[in-house]
Amino acid sequence: MKKGPLYSIFASKCPKCNLGDLYVDNNPFHLRKLGDMHKNCSCCGQVYEPETGFYYGAMYVSYGVSILLMFIPAAILYFGFNAQFPTLLATVLGIYVLSFPLVFRWSRNIWLNIFVRFDPELKQKLSSHAV
Ligand SMILES: [Zn+2]
Repeated sequence: MKKGPLYSIFASKCPKCNLGDLYVDNNPFHLRKLGDMHKNCSCCGQVYEPETGFYYGAMYVSYGVSILLMFIPAAILYFGFNAQFPTLLATVLGIYVLSFPLVFRWSRNIWLNIFVRFDPELKQKLSSHAV
């Protein structure tokens, strides 16, 4: 995958260097550690929580991502297969519950990526130092 904001969001890597892990446990389905983040990037030192309550804003992102994830399959079922309301409701709730850990992390990652820019040269500098 090409490095940059999308890589950072889906691989849960540092938005600045794309090298350090954002979360203590990389598997979002280990629910007990779902929100446990490192304080800084282990590679470039980027702070992951720039200010107290920073991730409250991720709730808005989460709302949008959830709506998209639920709306698209519901629309396909409704318009493509003429599904009835109970089927749509069960599908949408199922998707919501199963994708919750992913949506939670993607939202935080998106939110952090809005405020922290990817620096490709920094990554090169850091990789050359690591060797
Ligand atoms: Zn970093």
